[in-house]
Amino acid sequence: MSNITEVRVNRRAAERISSGRPWVYRSDLINAGDAVAGQVVRVLDGRNNRYGCAHYSSSSEIVLRMLPFETAITDVGFFRRLIRRAQEFREKVVANTDSYRVVFAEADFLTGLIVDRYGPHLVIQTLSQGMDAAKAAIVEALREVLNPDSITERNDAATREKEGLERISGTLHGETPDYLEAKINGLRFIVNLAEGQKTGLFLDQRENWQAAASYARGEALDCFSYTGGFALHMARGCDSVTAVDSSKPALAQLAYNAKANNLENIQTRHGKAFDMLKQYVLSRREFDTIVVDPPAFAKTSRQREDALRAYKDVNLRALKLLKRDGILITCSCSQHVSEADLFEVIASAALDCGSRLTVVERRTQARDHPILLTAPETHYLKCIVLRAF
Ligand code: SAH
Repeated sequence: MSNITEVRVNRRAAERISSGRPWVYRSDLINAGDAVAGQVVRVLDGRNNRYGCAHYSSSSEIVLRMLPFETAITDVGFFRRLIRRAQEFREKVVANTDSYRVVFAEADFLTGLIVDRYGPHLVIQTLSQGMDAAKAAIVEALREVLNPDSITERNDAATREKEGLERISGTLHGETPDYLEAKINGLRFIVNLAEGQKTGLFLDQRENWQAAASYARGEALDCFSYTGGFALHMARGCDSVTAVDSSKPALAQLAYNAKANNLENIQTRHGKAFDMLKQYVLSRREFDTIVVDPPAFAKTSRQREDALRAYKDVNLRALKLLKRDGILITCSCSQHVSEADLFEVIASAALDCGSRLTVVERRTQARDHPILLTAPETHYLKCIVLRAF
């Protein structure tokens, strides 16, 4: 198409695009021409070299989100092709679950789009102006490729505000049930599609839940349990599991899930994990297996230092409760905290409390949430399994 709007970026942005980064920041924009919100534009540098096409955002700091293959139109055919490829990959790597992420934004070259599947029901998020403008085409393509019973949008994520998009949720196709059941690794999870965190479950932890089950024994503690991904998986191999979370609805859901799976050895404790861990330290409570899976402490790079202190603090408290030969499974989902950072704070915590740790396994997000090699930020989830010697 010759009449496509042209947008010019500076040399730094051009180099970043050439090195495989899918985003351009507003500060690297030279001239947006007459580009309008959510439009597909052609990206050029100051010397008229072409760098492909992108979705333009009129309000976000991320002004351009690159599209694959010089795509000039994000129509049904474009989404059909990419969604089909995404689904075919999931069919290779996803096992023992009817619920998984079908489309993971950058990693599927569909920056700004998330599609999760819970059995025959799909939940989507369109997190950029470009993807939001293409919502009708996305829904049409999803219906053609995946033939779902329903498609729901959970577009209530805070990041939509940066794009000047309203926070909304609702049904886009079919009928969305209030609750549905996900079957993951032989366990039943009741998912609240309308109100659960993220799209209902932390599907990125799915493979780590199963890994945790293989280590869990004795008395286990699941800190930041949400609806029990780790707790339920561990309960099958443990004498008891204590699940701690500050969200009452999450714990109510967890208790419900425990019942649905006939697991009678899980207790829930409502409260702040930091306080609860401190209480356990004071009462000399000990555990054989501990999971620490806090929310992202560093949501921006400026929060990194504070986040590192919080990760150290929570892991220090957990280590004080860990029995000899016990297993700590500790996670960080902050994209601004690297695996190396996490190792450093845990080592520092271990030295402070005199525990000697060995690294048993280094894990990351489940394979249906791939990492884009040239965008290290997409490697956001770290999960480290350690043994106390
Ligand atoms: N481990 C869960 C996901 C955890 S998400 C899983 O695998 O499914 C982080 C959880 O931490 C959320 O459920 C949130 O409610 C909870 N949370 C946030 N701040 C907390 C705090 N200070 N203490 C305890 N829980 C907290």
